[in-house]
Amino acid sequence: MNEEQRKQQGQIKSELNIERIKNTSSDDMIAKYFQTNYELQAPDIKKARKRRNEEVQFNYDFSIPEDMQAIGKDKKFLIRTYGCQMNEHDTEVMAGIFTEMGYTATTEVTEADIILLNTCAIRENAENKVFGEIGHLKPLKLENPDLIIGVCGCMSQEESVVDRILKKHQHIDLIFGTHNIHRLPHLIKEAMFSKEMIVEVWSKEGDIIENLPKVRKGKIKAWVNIMYGCDKFCTYCIVPMTRGKERSRRPEDIIQEVRHLVAQGYKEVTLLGQNVNAYGKDFEDLDYTFGDLMNDIHKIDIPRVRFTTSHPRDFDDHLIDVLAQGGNLLDHIHLPVQSGSSEVLKKMNRKYTREEYLELVRKIREAIPNATLTTDIIVGFPNETDEQFEETMTLVEEVGFEAAYTFIYSPREGTPAARKKDDVPEEVKKQRLYRLNELVNKQAAESMLTYKGKTVKVLVEGESKKNPDILAGYTEKSKLVNFNGPKSAIGKIVEVKITKANTWSLNGEMIESKIEVN
Ligand code: SAM
Ligand code: SF4
Repeated sequence: MNEEQRKQQGQIKSELNIERIKNTSSDDMIAKYFQTNYELQAPDIKKARKRRNEEVQFNYDFSIPEDMQAIGKDKKFLIRTYGCQMNEHDTEVMAGIFTEMGYTATTEVTEADIILLNTCAIRENAENKVFGEIGHLKPLKLENPDLIIGVCGCMSQEESVVDRILKKHQHIDLIFGTHNIHRLPHLIKEAMFSKEMIVEVWSKEGDIIENLPKVRKGKIKAWVNIMYGCDKFCTYCIVPMTRGKERSRRPEDIIQEVRHLVAQGYKEVTLLGQNVNAYGKDFEDLDYTFGDLMNDIHKIDIPRVRFTTSHPRDFDDHLIDVLAQGGNLLDHIHLPVQSGSSEVLKKMNRKYTREEYLELVRKIREAIPNATLTTDIIVGFPNETDEQFEETMTLVEEVGFEAAYTFIYSPREGTPAARKKDDVPEEVKKQRLYRLNELVNKQAAESMLTYKGKTVKVLVEGESKKNPDILAGYTEKSKLVNFNGPKSAIGKIVEVKITKANTWSLNGEMIESKIEVN
């Protein structure tokens, strides 16, 4: 297509876009989508459970089609990211693809030619935020019909969400899911030249696409996906339906990525997966677990290695032994417990009891005496009794978590827990969350006090958000430290003497002679 044809097509597209937005969508149009591009599918746990034996395809051939390589010249993209690190990292991949297509990034919606909302489905309020944002973007689209607005990420994998967007938000141009990010160039092309909303959501359980470009946020810390999906099927959780089956990247691809990051000067990697310690369980030709991977990464010359999230059920003795070697394997472990009651854990399908969790904590502390533990907790699971909630409170004290992400249970369509009748009033759930947070904050503040007067190693990330004259970074145990020091320390690991402890951060003074040359 030559420039003139492109312009003409663009002109037609603008007019059609305006037409589409002005008219609320007709049922005919929606029906057409469902027949052609999108097959209506509610999250179906029975079907999802059957997928475990499906073979995973590895694809190493990603490239941007020739006609899309310069399509973004003089154009800008903006990606809003909601939810977990997995989504943040997917955004880095999409930013990489846009950059290879010639686009540059912007943070201003009014400057953007493409806006993507990379969404999270984990709780209802996360979804509400996205629908709020979709509404806010409508005037922009009316002003600039050539603007492409897309919705991707976990919400796009839900039938009810796609249905709602098709029916009520015709200013959206593009919906795609978590399994076809690598199709972004094709999808953008279709969205540019089609008169209709493009919906491409694969219910397929997912392959592994290697060699995708990435534009990482920062040059000091990096995320590295080691596996995708989840087969745990906790009864409250939508992730197994939105992210597909558990599938591990090949060890050599992960190790190569980490080595490449070292060569680029990165100082810290966080290995990512919904259940990192289920890594390797899906290999048919290889007996290689998460412990083995950590052992191999331990030998690489990168100062700091973290991982998230680990599941108590898969935390085996081999992994504990490997972590006990220390060195670059940091002794901060995020180990979501969800509840302190064995009965609730059973209803959640977590497959461990309170006692088993406590035994695991004991083993970890025996092997790694200074290990710091943090966790995730859900309060107000359907029919959780006062006594069961109190068991969560006592477990939090007993383990001495130094921080916790705490949530009120949110029913998710298609999950088994969402079908349960719930006799716990919302007000009671809120009070439980309040009490739990008070306890967690108290423990966090107490743990911070133990650092006063001590010297800690800090990976310096940059200037503090509140004061550019102050530097900020994290300790090995993920504590935020604000301190006085020279800008030359940014990107390095320095020693800082702690002078003040706050609930969620520490203040200190850098020990100048102790800048490590990395
Ligand atoms: N795979 C990780 C694990 O099992 O520990 C967690 C992944 S999930 C993105 C993060 C946290 O969200 C979970 O640990 C859980 O506490 C919380 N969560 C998941 N589904 C939820 C729901 N329906 N309502 C409230 N919190 C939920
Ligand atoms: Fe969700 Fe459970 Fe899988 Fe974590 S392990 S992602 S909570 S189903």
